[in-house]
Amino acid sequence: MTEEHSNASVLWQKARDLIRKKVPDHVYMQWFAAIVPIRMEDRKIILGVPDDLFASWLTDNYQDYLCEGLEEAAGGEIAFDFETGHQADYPKDDLPREKSNPVQISWEDEDAGEIKVKPLRQENAPNCLPSYTFDNFIVGEENRYAYSAALTAAQNPGQFNPLYIYGSTGMGKTHLLQAVANAVYKNNPNTVVRYVTCETFLNSYLDSLRTHSTFKSHFEFRNHFREVDLLLIDDVHQLGGKDQIQEEFFNTFNTLYNAGKQIILTSDKQPSEIRGLEARLVSRFESGVTTQITSPTTFETRLSILQSEQKDQLVKLSPDVIHYVAERISSSIRTLKGALMRLVAYSSMLGRPVPMDEAEGILADMLDKEAETRKVSIDRIQQVVAEYFNLRVTDLTGSKRPKNIAEPRMMAMYFARELTEFSLVDIGNAFGGRNHATVLHAVSQVKTMCEKDDTFRRNMTAVKRKIQG
Ligand code: ADP
Ligand code: MG
Repeated sequence: MTEEHSNASVLWQKARDLIRKKVPDHVYMQWFAAIVPIRMEDRKIILGVPDDLFASWLTDNYQDYLCEGLEEAAGGEIAFDFETGHQADYPKDDLPREKSNPVQISWEDEDAGEIKVKPLRQENAPNCLPSYTFDNFIVGEENRYAYSAALTAAQNPGQFNPLYIYGSTGMGKTHLLQAVANAVYKNNPNTVVRYVTCETFLNSYLDSLRTHSTFKSHFEFRNHFREVDLLLIDDVHQLGGKDQIQEEFFNTFNTLYNAGKQIILTSDKQPSEIRGLEARLVSRFESGVTTQITSPTTFETRLSILQSEQKDQLVKLSPDVIHYVAERISSSIRTLKGALMRLVAYSSMLGRPVPMDEAEGILADMLDKEAETRKVSIDRIQQVVAEYFNLRVTDLTGSKRPKNIAEPRMMAMYFARELTEFSLVDIGNAFGGRNHATVLHAVSQVKTMCEKDDTFRRNMTAVKRKIQG
């Protein structure tokens, strides 16, 4: 153990004993016992926590206890910071003392004594979270193909080259990318697997051009990224519009590609949709396997994710609350995990299980956001409108013009414009190949009718509610 670490360890043990006297047992177990001392940096202690959510919850809710405990233990002012990716082994003397504690808490049976830091950082690939593994990745319809492609890339590097995974935020792209890195590294630590975010790549590049850079020369920077077996770059949409780095990236890409080295890229868009990305890079990115991860649309996927998260959590929620979360939160896996984390935290603070009706209140703002961001498709709009007016979807997309069809059709076009991101041309196409002027006309007609006709306006409100419901 280094001196830095041992100082941090001594200070933290003192502080957590002081904190323990002030907070309820279950709060201590859920939050403070899970912290591991990492090192000292001048008058600052670095505390290891599992992830960002955990860190922000601690800061928002228990900062005062932490500050007081640390300052009392240090005998003066002391700052702290969190480092994610650590898990504590719970020592035996940390078991909850009240046997009757209503919150179900489980723990690992470990020897008594000082907190042990699992050597997580030695098992995972550099810059990667140890929990981002294939084992921890729940496979569903939404990500099955991306998962298999990533697994293949880890097992047979170079076969799918490049592998390009895209999808919006919180879908599991970073998790999959780091799972590849961790798997390859675990299998053979001598394999050089380099995981970086596009931003880090960019900053390292700019840094390498400076005289006093971390890289002794630009040449060293190049080798850092070119002398590798696998290069994994997260969020490459950030290359858009940055010409100088695109040149460098293009050369790195070619060097590795020609040597048959695996390249995996993630992005929030398809290559051709990244604004300001050179055509030659678009075609390179598209030349291998491109796969999308969509939002967790199936209830089963969402439920499995929650259940798997719960396995590692001390506080267990009731099955009906878990079902409720799985039913109501579907915009992204990050949000899903955030909702679970919030309920666990409440349960921990209250020292009792959270019943269904309370869960709804606790998650109120998240549920509102879900309703807002729930993507509405043109298909859905057409189905709802057709059903409401007792028509078939083909009536809306067809060419007949009687009033009983024309008005609902215009209404559907109006909603497609108002509630989706699709262009006028896309909307026209979805309505049987009508041109964009027809869509614009429909939108303005609907506005006029809303002003003049009360029944029409009431119908509009009812349909909108159904679409968003
Ligand atoms: P992205 O990079 O697409 O924005 P992340 O990889 O950061 O998303 O995922 C957000 C959170 O959701 C992370 O905590 C990650 O572990 C979790 N997650 C995403 N997909 C899955 C999955 N299929 N199974 C388990 N956890 C997942
Ligand atoms: Mg990411």
